[in-house]
Amino acid sequence: MSKRILVTGGAGFLGCHLCRELLDEGHEVICADNLFTGSKANIVQLLDSRRFEFLRHDVTFPLYVEVDDIYNLACPASPIHYQHDPVQTTKTSVHGAINVLGLAKRVRARIFQASTSEVYGDPHQHPQREDYWGRVNPIGPRSCYDEGKRCAETLFFDYHRQNRVRIKVARIFNTYGPRMHVNDGRVVSNFIVQALGGQPLTVYGNGQQTRSFCYVTDMIDAIRRLMATPDDITGPMNLGNPVEVTILEIAEKIIALTNSRSKLIFHPSPIDDPVQRCPDITFAKQTLGWQPQVGLEDGLTQTIAYFDKLLAGANDGLR
Ligand code: NAD
Ligand code: UDP
Repeated sequence: MSKRILVTGGAGFLGCHLCRELLDEGHEVICADNLFTGSKANIVQLLDSRRFEFLRHDVTFPLYVEVDDIYNLACPASPIHYQHDPVQTTKTSVHGAINVLGLAKRVRARIFQASTSEVYGDPHQHPQREDYWGRVNPIGPRSCYDEGKRCAETLFFDYHRQNRVRIKVARIFNTYGPRMHVNDGRVVSNFIVQALGGQPLTVYGNGQQTRSFCYVTDMIDAIRRLMATPDDITGPMNLGNPVEVTILEIAEKIIALTNSRSKLIFHPSPIDDPVQRCPDITFAKQTLGWQPQVGLEDGLTQTIAYFDKLLAGANDGLR
């Protein structure tokens, strides 16, 4: 059945893939985004559809629309962008959550929250399971994002308990793919753009820190499956790819896949940079019948092809 769906942050990396998927499934989509890190280029092809509408809107202000489902993705996700205006980042997560939850309560919509592996901070449990409470610095440069997202989770669960709002909270682990911004600042896009440009790859710290990278199509599939679960499935649910790699390994892989002659250059480690991160996805596997399908090499190859075309000034080839 066709639905009216609000996607906040719909002009961002994950948001534009989600909007495309929802349109392809026959839904009406309202994309609300203030274009802080998102761009019109990400949604320009979607504007051809009469079922797609773009609203330039900041989620820290209330929004009055009539919708069946809400996906709340609005929030800068890259450390350089969320640290640019940390007060606005916290407001986006916290005031934003209050506004979209108020909307969900009024129109009785189901609501998805894009939470994050950052709620685990620099974890002492490895891999991280959903029942781990995390190890987050409340006053550091990453706190605006980490604590903002933690507070948003609190609000989601309180609106659920207090007002019976139907919630779906996903803790998303590092996800990459086409349509990341060239200047996004996260590691995969940085390394690819540097390797393609023959620039040194900027490794922060000694490169022994780990992450687990999920390709965007796998993530969108998981998000859609979580939203389709019965109301008693609220999450929080880890979504990500459990294959863990060091930052040095990813740098070397990207150099090899781009046939680049770039070298590595080492910069100081950012404050509070988590040392290890890997999701335990047992809950998602059992509940959604889902696990990532795209391996790191395939995903990187597709992402490299996207940036290669983009940097050459050609049409990016995506719909
Ligand atoms: P992104 O920065 O590409 O997209 C975020 C979008 O939100 C952008 O379009 C931006 O303009 C918009 N936005 C920011 N502040 C806003 C505001 N106040 N009002 C309206 N729109 C606003 O990042 P992404 O990777 O697409 O992430 C999407 C969501 O998923 C974020 O909430 C992020 O925290 C979460 N997440 C992503 C990852 C990942 O690896 N991609 C991991 C964990 C969590
Ligand atoms: N990183 C790096 N070089 C870069 C960008 C990031 O070495 O140009 C490192 C960063 O210090 C972190 C890891 O890569 O250890 C992932 O960083 P990213 O910003 O992509 O995501 P997050 O820290 O939020 O997981």
